[in-house]
Amino acid sequence: MSEISSIDLVELTNNIKAWGAALGFQQVGISDIDLNQHESHLQEWLDNGYHGDMAYMESHGMKRARPDELVPGTLRVISVRMNYLPPDASFARHLKNSEIGYISRYALGRDYHKVLRKRLKALGDKITASLKHTQYRPFVDSAPVLEHAIAEKAGIGWTGKHSLTLNKEAGSWFFLGELFINLPLPVDVPVEESCGNCTACLTICPTNAIVAPYTVDARRCISYLTIESDKDIPEALRPLMGNRIYGCDDCQLVCPWNRYADITDEEDFHPREILHGQRLVTLFSWSEETFLHNTEGSPIRRIGYEKWQRNIAVALGNAPFSHDITALLTERRGMVSALVDRHIDWAFNQQQRKRSALERENRQQHRLIRVIEKGLPRDA
Ligand code: SF4
Ligand code: SF4
Repeated sequence: MSEISSIDLVELTNNIKAWGAALGFQQVGISDIDLNQHESHLQEWLDNGYHGDMAYMESHGMKRARPDELVPGTLRVISVRMNYLPPDASFARHLKNSEIGYISRYALGRDYHKVLRKRLKALGDKITASLKHTQYRPFVDSAPVLEHAIAEKAGIGWTGKHSLTLNKEAGSWFFLGELFINLPLPVDVPVEESCGNCTACLTICPTNAIVAPYTVDARRCISYLTIESDKDIPEALRPLMGNRIYGCDDCQLVCPWNRYADITDEEDFHPREILHGQRLVTLFSWSEETFLHNTEGSPIRRIGYEKWQRNIAVALGNAPFSHDITALLTERRGMVSALVDRHIDWAFNQQQRKRSALERENRQQHRLIRVIEKGLPRDA
């Protein structure tokens, strides 16, 4: 690439950042490809089995920490972030109402993979147009990329104790994307780690999935359980999941750096009414056809109908007792799969237990009222 020597790489980098901003990225940073210091942490995480059934994590091995093994010729990674916090996120209102299905806020709108990949490709095309032998490859949440480690190197933010990227101005409600590129662009400087003594995310995690600062045991994480895992959700964890039917935001929600996070400019990430704040019984009643229709272009579609039903069954088991719920669970049994039926059975038993507890409580109250009435003077 003799052309490169004649190009001002500093000027090109400035242009890349300006193009990135024009394409809707809130930040663009550049890192080299030396992720050596992250290899031992990654290996330890894999050795502990914290990746659960995500076999692709293991099969790609250290390629994740070696961008030039994944895409030969890569010299730099351009890391981008795009805010996704929607207006009217209604976190508390929906989390506290156990009759409503809570969906992680990143998944209420259009599939971010599509949005970011398209913009990253547009950024890559602009670079290629300005320097014709440039080669690039975009990644958005792709398995073999250590996106948080790369973002940290590129100065996008630091890796918080919940293992997500945090930025002082933007918190953590953003997507990350990467452009692997074969140009020796000048790199950005990492920012200072600023979690300090805070441990709020470790304490709040409903399933104790953050087993140590910076280490998440995916097998306990609700995001993994509801999205990645194809298996039965462990019974011990089901009651802890509450009404979270797709992902979980708790560790971000509690983070002090998210107090002043910006709302997204992207209408694509605004919540679809059909998914936002809907009653569990409504969502569980969807046929597969309705599910596919209502989740078209949404990341939720990726998990498929069976896992959608499995997750909602668990939330129904965690909801207060209702005849509507038990009737619906009975009606849906045998309609999807053995896996869903096992979760329906669990939910039904939970509902019956709550019903018995309610009846016991009512009987006790009636007894108490009778005792009080008997003890009262006639004219009281
Ligand atoms: S996403 Fe939820 S379950 Fe997973 S680590 Fe964060 S708080 Fe815990
Ligand atoms: S909650 Fe506290 S410890 Fe966790 S990521 Fe945020 S600042 Fe760091």
